[in-house]
Amino acid sequence: MTTGAKRDYYEVLGVSRGASPDEIKKAYRRLARQFHPDVNKEGSAEAKFKEINEAYEVLSDEQKRAMYDRFGHSTPGGGAGGYDPFGGGDAFSTIFDAFFGGAGGGGGQRGPQRGPQRGADLRYNLRLTFEEAVFGCEKEIEFRRLEGCPSCKGSGAEPGTDPVRCPKCGGSGEVRQRAPLFNMVTVTTCDSCGGSGSVIPIPCRECRGEGRVRQSHRIIVKVPAGVDSNQQIRMSGEGESGPRGGPFGNLYVALDVQQHPLFLRDGNDIILELRLNLAQATLGEDIEVSTLDGTERLRIPPGTQTGQTFKLRGKGVPFLRQSGRGDQIIVCRVMVPTKLTDHQRKLLQELARTFDPEVQGERDEGFLGRIKDALGL
Ligand SMILES: [Zn+2]
Ligand SMILES: [Zn+2]
Repeated sequence: MTTGAKRDYYEVLGVSRGASPDEIKKAYRRLARQFHPDVNKEGSAEAKFKEINEAYEVLSDEQKRAMYDRFGHSTPGGGAGGYDPFGGGDAFSTIFDAFFGGAGGGGGQRGPQRGPQRGADLRYNLRLTFEEAVFGCEKEIEFRRLEGCPSCKGSGAEPGTDPVRCPKCGGSGEVRQRAPLFNMVTVTTCDSCGGSGSVIPIPCRECRGEGRVRQSHRIIVKVPAGVDSNQQIRMSGEGESGPRGGPFGNLYVALDVQQHPLFLRDGNDIILELRLNLAQATLGEDIEVSTLDGTERLRIPPGTQTGQTFKLRGKGVPFLRQSGRGDQIIVCRVMVPTKLTDHQRKLLQELARTFDPEVQGERDEGFLGRIKDALGL
């Protein structure tokens, strides 16, 4: 029914990202009245109504809203950390299906899904050295997560006992009640059994009936070349196990790349400051400069100025999941000596007498701007 790209939930409700719970509630009530299929007979109203409810379902729940803010629509599945407005047998999808599904015709065949709940997504902060991020690496990480309980094999029932039908919902996993807003019957997930239709009379002692226990988990993270801070690697199925045998959530490995003592990174380019003494800058010289791959000879021409740049093509950071590399940019800085021996001072004074008292060279208005560009400021 609803296919294609999903609209932003905030946009759907017409509120700002910083909207208070009260503002969200008000916006929802107004829109829900406007597009409720009882009132609004336009063809597009039912899809709109569903979209509004889905957005409200997420934005009205502090935890789901936080997940949505972080991962957007890309967070699949339900579970403690994720959300899935139509997967968990929530109230609104069933309101909708009561109207448009089944006997009424025209609706989809989607009912409340009662499959096992998916586990929570986890986040792991991984610190990388500059070189590890540039050239890629494999890192072994270890963290604690909920996994299927070995004692009850994830069922939650003490070994030797079995789950029984839920007395509250009679095994259907659903409870019918009157909704205050629309004055009609809604069907919600049974809170006694969580929609599974069965309860455990004697919970497993290992996991207290949850079907999972917290255990240490070790995996290898393959970090591709060219990553940078504030990027994350999604590791499918490496999050927590769902309750009672539900599927695993995902692990998000958030990267934090350390600074390099010499190199400054600007996207895929590497910036290196090259200090030249007065003689090197004035007379020119072939100089060994550090690169990510070792050293390289660079010809410094006579009369090189502070802020002048040289480029070593293809000596920068590899492009992420593509061939090729950025460049290394060398920014020269001419160092004026602050300590001189008596001999040096004499030589310099002698040299000074040969210079015109006016400083040579054209006044360069773009000088500061070029330094800023070169340093990415
Ligand atoms: Zn157990
Ligand atoms: Zn129940």
